Amino acid sequence: MPKINVLPKSIAELIAAGEVVERPASIVKEAVENSIDAGATHITVEIQHGGITYIRITDNGCGIANDDVPKAFLRHATSKIEKAVDLDSISTLGFRGEALAATSAVSRVEMFTKTTDEDFGTHYKIEGGEEVLYEEVGCPDGTTLIVRDLFYNTPARMKFLKKDVSEGTTVSAIIERQALSHPEIAFKLIRDGKQTLATSGDGKLSSAVYSVLGREISSTLIPVNLTLDGVKVTGLVCKPVSCRASRAYQFTFLNGRYVQSGTITAATEQAYKNSAMVGKFPVFVLGVEIPFETVDVNVHPAKTQVRFSDEKRVFTAVYNAVKNAILSGDTRPEIAVTPPKNNTFLHMTAEQYRQTAVNLPVQEAKPQPKVEVNPEPIEPKAEPVRLKADNTPFFLRDEFKPNVPQKKTVVDIVKEEPVKEIFKSEPIIHDVKVEEKEYSPKEEIKLIGEAFNTYIVAQKGDSVFMIDKHAAHERILFNKLKENHVIESQSLLVPVTVKLIGDEYTAMINNVSLLSEYGFEVEDFGNESVLVRAIPSMLSKEDAEGTIVEAAHSLSQKGNVDLERIDDILHTVACKAAIKAGYITSDIERLNLAIKVLGDNDIMYCPHGRPVAFEIKKYNLEKYFGRIQ
Ligand code: ADP
Ligand code: MG
Repeated sequence: MPKINVLPKSIAELIAAGEVVERPASIVKEAVENSIDAGATHITVEIQHGGITYIRITDNGCGIANDDVPKAFLRHATSKIEKAVDLDSISTLGFRGEALAATSAVSRVEMFTKTTDEDFGTHYKIEGGEEVLYEEVGCPDGTTLIVRDLFYNTPARMKFLKKDVSEGTTVSAIIERQALSHPEIAFKLIRDGKQTLATSGDGKLSSAVYSVLGREISSTLIPVNLTLDGVKVTGLVCKPVSCRASRAYQFTFLNGRYVQSGTITAATEQAYKNSAMVGKFPVFVLGVEIPFETVDVNVHPAKTQVRFSDEKRVFTAVYNAVKNAILSGDTRPEIAVTPPKNNTFLHMTAEQYRQTAVNLPVQEAKPQPKVEVNPEPIEPKAEPVRLKADNTPFFLRDEFKPNVPQKKTVVDIVKEEPVKEIFKSEPIIHDVKVEEKEYSPKEEIKLIGEAFNTYIVAQKGDSVFMIDKHAAHERILFNKLKENHVIESQSLLVPVTVKLIGDEYTAMINNVSLLSEYGFEVEDFGNESVLVRAIPSMLSKEDAEGTIVEAAHSLSQKGNVDLERIDDILHTVACKAAIKAGYITSDIERLNLAIKVLGDNDIMYCPHGRPVAFEIKKYNLEKYFGRIQ
């Protein structure tokens, strides 16, 4: 029978240390937390070789009194718990009184520390858990902790370390998170002699974000601030158009501590649905504050995953906070106009220009081709003849009409009147009021024109806007569908049979009753096909098949979340019913679309998340053209 031995204290300590100290970043994390606890306002971290050979953390905190220094390196030695009850409220912050002991067990540690009351500071050295120096020294208030040769006495652990660069990056990530959760502290990180991060410590989250994430990202952020049902959510999130291809710029702090929470991430991303592009992720730095007892954090200090006893409450608060921020703080994306570098004309007077022009070789005028004069000038009549790209006539849609009340019962397939008649009968009123929603284009909106039959160019105030007419119309229809809930239906005189495949067929059959709420009458026709008897009246008959195929496809991609399935159906209808890029529209239609888009900040993105309009500021144009410097 094997004999049972009690491990010698030094070995037991090495084992314990291994659990707390996994890599350089774990030491940095613990030490920086100690500095923060000590009330420091300046914390500087320096590492060499990813922190494996050298880590130094200097703070201007309260320091440790001379006779307490050796004690601080004992296991379970802490100044932070006096009574057992304290344990409850801070248990989420990890083990107590372990960090210095564990670090000194697996490396060579040196400390300089001084409290304000003392005339002298303390210089202390401890290697592999053994005290090697303890003396008085002259040093500034605060604490400097130096950790050299990590795992020098446990080579097996050494093998688990990654390359210097990757350990260094993990240390950086720790400092970035601390800097973001403590904008009131000035952090500095020096990696192999180079300063790679410095925050101002001015107490503003935006300043910390600027230093950590850079100018480009921080310029797109909008503030979040909402307390709902006891859950306080604050921070910064990006505008939908600035979402990124990865989740690398997402930071969540729970009661001031960096955490990872599936619930908070999901709630934030959900708030971007219908405004951010598919496959892009929001940038956010969010602080969530809730009472400790409702959080379940795994107590291991290295773990950051959290769960909530009431996930739904947290989800709802975060979702609403972020959604509000997006709605109130979003502005249209701007096209950056950079002045050309070599603008000769910028430096020439009119006279100088004439001088140079005089010296240019004169081109001989080419004879002008003869122009046959048509006795009857081709002038646009009352309204230009409007054709689709494929030369079929195009009919004006309700959404383009100026202030035309919506028709209430439309059952006919041929429901739209030709353009001319409408223009004869309807007065043009630009102060549009549509769908009970007040539009207030306070400034006059002027139509400049349209490029490529696709992009409406309009002027409002001190800006010019390029509006994608399909995206804009699609969004207007989508919003209308979402608000109205009831969709008018039109029966098809001749029902359409649509052949579907496998999953899409099943998805369609499973959603027949849901689809019926949105104006579709669809029946199982056997043999993987369906019979379509009615479609929303905003669609044209020709769109029936395409809409059903697309709806079936997106339904087959989705799980069982009703809201998402409904959104998908509405997307499909809005997209099919919207005017296509390339279709010819009239000036009055373009103007009305521009008025709707620019007068309603809700029309920012199409339902797929593409921007509806871009803004070009007059100021930037003037800069570009060198009118102003
Ligand atoms: P804990 O932080 O859980 O108390 P540590 O082992 O990290 O345990 O630190 C032990 C003690 O050493 C702390 O309670 C604190 O009193 C003291 N200490 C450690 N680092 C610092 C520091 N940078 N400034 C002031 N006191 C410190
Ligand atoms: Mg500590």
